[in-house]
Amino acid sequence: MKFRNFPMVAKVVYGRGSFDQLDEILAPKRMDGRPFIFMVDDVFVDSDVAKRIPLHGQDKIIFISAKEEPKTIYVDQYRDEIVAEFNQLPSGIIGIGGGTAMDYAKAVAIMLNNPGSAADYQGWDLLQNPALYHVGIPTVSGTGAEVSRTTVLTGPTKKLGINSDYTPFDQVVLDPELTTGVPKNQWFYTGMDCYIHCVESLTGNYLNTFSKTYGEKSLELCRNVFLHKDVRDEESQDELMMASWHGGMSIAYSQVGIAHALSYGLSYVLGTHHGVGNCIVFDQLEEYYPDGVKEFKLMVKKHNIDIPKGLCKNLTDKQFKTMTDVALTLVPLWENALGKDWKKIMTREKIRKLYEQM
Ligand code: NAD
Ligand code: ZN
Repeated sequence: MKFRNFPMVAKVVYGRGSFDQLDEILAPKRMDGRPFIFMVDDVFVDSDVAKRIPLHGQDKIIFISAKEEPKTIYVDQYRDEIVAEFNQLPSGIIGIGGGTAMDYAKAVAIMLNNPGSAADYQGWDLLQNPALYHVGIPTVSGTGAEVSRTTVLTGPTKKLGINSDYTPFDQVVLDPELTTGVPKNQWFYTGMDCYIHCVESLTGNYLNTFSKTYGEKSLELCRNVFLHKDVRDEESQDELMMASWHGGMSIAYSQVGIAHALSYGLSYVLGTHHGVGNCIVFDQLEEYYPDGVKEFKLMVKKHNIDIPKGLCKNLTDKQFKTMTDVALTLVPLWENALGKDWKKIMTREKIRKLYEQM
């Protein structure tokens, strides 16, 4: 048996208001005359958060739209624009936002030091060189992108992450205060990404004590936030931020499962966002995750959340086929959920049926 040797986030600061330490944190990493590039969710244009970003010299803010999930072509474009504007490598890239802004920051930091297109590196351990120094600052909790060794990208032929030892952030700033303005549905969808990570990890074949301990803690925190509380207060912001971290740590050493595999297919064909896509899929998976789905439905009801329906009503056979193809490429996810013989259990017809219900 060969055990996997994982890199982790090198440094992390946690606390309400810790965002204000960013200047001090970045100072030792600032290289002579080389700017920092801040990739910031455009929800923060003209906000107090944007005003608190510590800019010096040629430092630059690039506002990122989270309307679409990250694409390899945009990663390449951002990289090319930065190279063209500065003529030299920046000191580092800082992502401020949800999974979208954080994944852009990871991917651009990688592509500033690797030739070609981001699409060339979608897969596992394909990078030639380390990334530039990069920092992640989540402003909505759940994806675990702040701890993970992937940056999830949609490319010309697939939706697949750049999974590598160079992908994790060098520094993360966990400041729960930054999640204050997240709209309710989004809070729930991204929070459920974390809940689903835990259910898929804890019920999977790849489970081990490392993953289990993180997954159980994360699940307990998710329940505090979404089941045992009616309000979104400071405590629940703090808990959800740490649930996301622990959920990410849990899947680092195990794997996600059926909801993620099917959600990737939805996203590739319909552009459905990860959090809401996971909810749409998970809602239909009672046969595979009976306890998790039952609890999920309780949480949906408690918070009166709208889970979109009828997405696949008018899809063509070709679209169903593409969706299924994308889902089926994610072999480790199926193996984790259903075992080595997963292909006998999860046939193309079965997948189509599930999609038809969404
Ligand atoms: P997101 O980044 O797509 O943002 C969702 C919405 O929330 C956006 O409209 C954004 O503007 C808004 N928002 C964010 N912070 C806010 C705040 N403080 N106040 C008000 N609005 C705010 O959401 P997400 O669910 O965090 O990320 C989804 C993305 O993350 C997907 O692209 C998915 O593929 C990726 N992802 C990556 C990993 C990984 O390990 N790298 C894991 C899971 C998901
Ligand atoms: Zn996820």
